[in-house]
Amino acid sequence: MTADQDNALGIYISIPFCRSKCTYCNFASGVYPASEHARYVGRLVGDLESAGVWAGQINVNLPRRVDSVYLGGGTPSLLAPDLIDHLFTTIRANFHFDVDAEVTVECAPGQIADETLDALVAAGVNRVSLGVQSFIDREAQSSGRLHSRAIVEDDLRRLRAAGIRNINLDLIAGLAGQTFASWQESLDALIGAGVPHASVYMLEVDEDSRLGREMLAGGVRYHAELVPNDDAIARMYTQAIDSLATAGLAQYEISNFCLPGFASRHNLRYWQRRPYLGLGLDASSMLRAPRSSRAEIPNVLRATTSDDLTAYLGASQPLETTWHSPASQLEEAWFLGLRLNAGVRVADLQSEFGLSAVTPALEVVSRLAEEGLLLSEGGVVRLTARGQLLSNDVFQEFLGLANVAELVPQQMRS
Ligand code: SF4
Repeated sequence: MTADQDNALGIYISIPFCRSKCTYCNFASGVYPASEHARYVGRLVGDLESAGVWAGQINVNLPRRVDSVYLGGGTPSLLAPDLIDHLFTTIRANFHFDVDAEVTVECAPGQIADETLDALVAAGVNRVSLGVQSFIDREAQSSGRLHSRAIVEDDLRRLRAAGIRNINLDLIAGLAGQTFASWQESLDALIGAGVPHASVYMLEVDEDSRLGREMLAGGVRYHAELVPNDDAIARMYTQAIDSLATAGLAQYEISNFCLPGFASRHNLRYWQRRPYLGLGLDASSMLRAPRSSRAEIPNVLRATTSDDLTAYLGASQPLETTWHSPASQLEEAWFLGLRLNAGVRVADLQSEFGLSAVTPALEVVSRLAEEGLLLSEGGVVRLTARGQLLSNDVFQEFLGLANVAELVPQQMRS
């Protein structure tokens, strides 16, 4: 199925509430009183109910058939059971779930109350993503997490007892105090947990987290001086790919690994450029308009919401929207597709964007293949292992290519 033929939707809902703020966190999330939770869910309910009218007004397809829902954050498991029920009742009243729809909720270990777990199961949640980050207690706790390995193991037992077996565990390579031995211990614990999916991220150092700011300033708060260097983090990432592969958890995306058949259906939507509606704080959507007979007319809408909670709650319009030109769609097709181990099929891009639009990128592919960053075989282009480590540099090469620029017709912003 091509992206254009997709008649199902994924729904992402951001729940930006956390019990405490992790030192490395660069998400729009925070610690808010429970009274804000109800107000926030009230706003989400309004946005869900008005999404169809909004889509009609700006002439984008909003499929009512839903095959994936993802509650991320933040820590959605902090919502009270009645709010979880209200949210899912509203989603189901406005959209039609496939019988096998994947319904994921992100949870923090030790922060899933029994009654919340009951409410999640009753709402149809069948997949949980647990933010473990490290199985080494001192590493988890020094980064602001509130759990221990024993708590993670207890949560896994409770989730399975509740019937949820499709579980993802997140790990971060590069936490303060992490060594190759302790990293291997976390990987072994994840493998021993027998989960079908794992996400492994390399620590991001930027000004959007307390730890990142401290590292950039050369300070020692949050154990910044104990964060492994870039080379060590890159070796840890490679160590993860090898260890997880040996255990049958094959890499299918730069940061994601799974047993056969357990790739995240929802997250695949992002990389395959298939439509999704994102609601809540700092969420984004990708929706398609009916295709025009003129190929140069933009037909992909990207929509984002505010990352400021007060602004989001007070905004009259749910979404800020930008129509993406064919040129920027083609750029995205390269750098989102290259994230996947399956790679990019050149013939697919040529049929979607035209032969001449793709040609300049093929010269880039040849050059990066010579540099060992890409592999081009049988009409499919993939990142090499080195390319995955330097992926942002690779993606940069696909921006602003000459012939692509000729396709740029306009950008509209409302
Ligand atoms: S639980 Fe997640 S969203 Fe919340 S502060 Fe920690 S990393 Fe950020």
